[in-house]
Amino acid sequence: MSEYNWCHNPDCHKIETQSRVRGTGDNKVLRTRKIALTSEWIRNSIYAYFCNQSCLHSFLHKFKQEIANIRPVKQPSETPIKVKKTKEQSYRHQWSNGQSNQVPYTSTRTTISLK
Ligand SMILES: [Zn+2]
Repeated sequence: MSEYNWCHNPDCHKIETQSRVRGTGDNKVLRTRKIALTSEWIRNSIYAYFCNQSCLHSFLHKFKQEIANIRPVKQPSETPIKVKKTKEQSYRHQWSNGQSNQVPYTSTRTTISLK
């Protein structure tokens, strides 16, 4: 396993930041950023392939059709659930004449759980 990856955004080397400047004298270039794979977190994350969120989203935007074609979705998926509604008595604060009064009200709590 290599110890680094190059950022996969094809336009990474066109972004004008000091961190991309390489070379000397009149031979300077903007270079694609190198990503050091120094931690378990980075090796298991999308940022093993993209130097930052901006490069990740530029890549996603540029290749959105190809990405969608990797796993086409032609119909929605469904997950069976149970929906439980319970009435709960609570209080809200109401200001009147510079005093806070507790006013009772009934709310409906909706709980969703997997079947
Ligand atoms: Zn990049």
